[in-house]
Amino acid sequence: MDVSFVLTIILVGFSAVLGWLVGRRRTRQAVALQPPATTDLEPTDPPDLAWIARANAALGGWLRYSGRGLPSATTLQSGLSSETVTTVESRLPGLRTPRSAGRTGIERLEEGNLVFVATDDLQVALLLPLGVPHARAIADLEHLVSSVRTRTALEATTGPRGTAGETVESISIRLALEVERLFDAEAAVVVGRARGAQVVGTALRADPHLHRVTATAGSPVDLVVRGELKQAVSAYEPLGILPWDRRHRERRAYVMPIAGPSGPLGALVIWTLGGGEPTGPARAELEKGIHRTGLLLEDALHRLELTEQATRDPLTGLANRRGLENAMAVVKVDSGTVICLDLDHFKTLNDTLGHPAGDAALGFVSRVIQDTIRDRDTAARIGGEEFAVWLPVTTLEEAAKVAERLRTRLAGRAWGWQGQPWPITASFGVAGWPESTGSRDNLIALADQALYEAKERGRNRVEVVETS
Ligand code: GH3
Ligand code: MG
Ligand code: MG
Repeated sequence: MDVSFVLTIILVGFSAVLGWLVGRRRTRQAVALQPPATTDLEPTDPPDLAWIARANAALGGWLRYSGRGLPSATTLQSGLSSETVTTVESRLPGLRTPRSAGRTGIERLEEGNLVFVATDDLQVALLLPLGVPHARAIADLEHLVSSVRTRTALEATTGPRGTAGETVESISIRLALEVERLFDAEAAVVVGRARGAQVVGTALRADPHLHRVTATAGSPVDLVVRGELKQAVSAYEPLGILPWDRRHRERRAYVMPIAGPSGPLGALVIWTLGGGEPTGPARAELEKGIHRTGLLLEDALHRLELTEQATRDPLTGLANRRGLENAMAVVKVDSGTVICLDLDHFKTLNDTLGHPAGDAALGFVSRVIQDTIRDRDTAARIGGEEFAVWLPVTTLEEAAKVAERLRTRLAGRAWGWQGQPWPITASFGVAGWPESTGSRDNLIALADQALYEAKERGRNRVEVVETS
């Protein structure tokens, strides 16, 4: 059906509801549209904390996490005395509660009210100036807690953040948060990557499973991201992925294009409360936000692509050695395992079938590796026909099973070149941190040593660096 026709129908149908919605939300919008100057606040990780602090006019925001995978974060407005900061920071551990549901509360401090949500391992708090209402702040903190919960595992493996300028992710999350506040809507930001249109930022209330999802080719989101549709309205799930959540079927999604100076580069997906299209003064504000985001995103995407070029192997699309080392350097991760593998008698394959066949075999092996490991693991091609896999937060025992699974899959899957079947096997070495070594820096060398033992002991086998 013609998209503009659908849009018109929806506009007429929902305009009355929208008028009421916009009117009803005017006071709340005023807060959302005029946050204090950005420069007052330091960028934080996750960026949500800084945004929430700003939107609630807080003097400071704290996130204290004692679990694995996310650093504690603080965002402060200039002028806050160091005694206050010390007071708040000493209070945070005391807010913890053994109840997993968490506890919310307010504590009166000299410079303001400390509103908080606390669970056993995560405490988030905002220091609000006296007189600032706290209900909205608490609601924001509750959303932050639930999003941190679901994002923790992902955050642990996203790799070191870009140093120069803002990342694609933080720019996108900020737009999604703005939309959430403006329209009381769920939002996701998608950008076009080589693999397809990928979700790079979601707001607090959006389904966390959306994170990193790639839209199906030909879906409304994919078409808007590629500039083939000006915009889209979807009564169904707009990313073209099977509905993971019943709610998404019941709500209408608006897909708006994000463009940079050089053209289309992404899309904003909005699921509004009640299904109405964003209109009115908030819509104008939204378009400004999208425009600003487009300018920032184009630069950030360019930087991301440069980084990826330097850290990817062009033949297989896997990380190269530098990419592997970057992935392994994530400070928040405090254990993990490396599997090294080298193809057996690869020279014979090359000499018999030719170099192009060798290249194709390397592609085949990289796909088997990727199909076998989890999303958070990093596979790399670190030499001609040598690969390595980094499995963060994985024990030596678990990784040895992964290596064995990889070995049997490689040996068991048929591969051939121009009709001629050719067996492909590999030899494996596995080293774990802290099981095999006290330092993650030794993992690759140790796994490599074990790999050469596997070669000596007859190939097509796994050797593990035993627990020290
Ligand atoms: P082993 O079981 O001991 O590992 O034997 P091998 O033949 O695999 O080991 P060797 O190191 O002698 O040979 C590796 C071969 O891999 C040499 C080279 O022809 C091939 N090779 C390395 N890089 C590439 C590449 O990018 N493409 C192709 N097609 N072949 C490559
Ligand atoms: Mg080899
Ligand atoms: Mg080799």
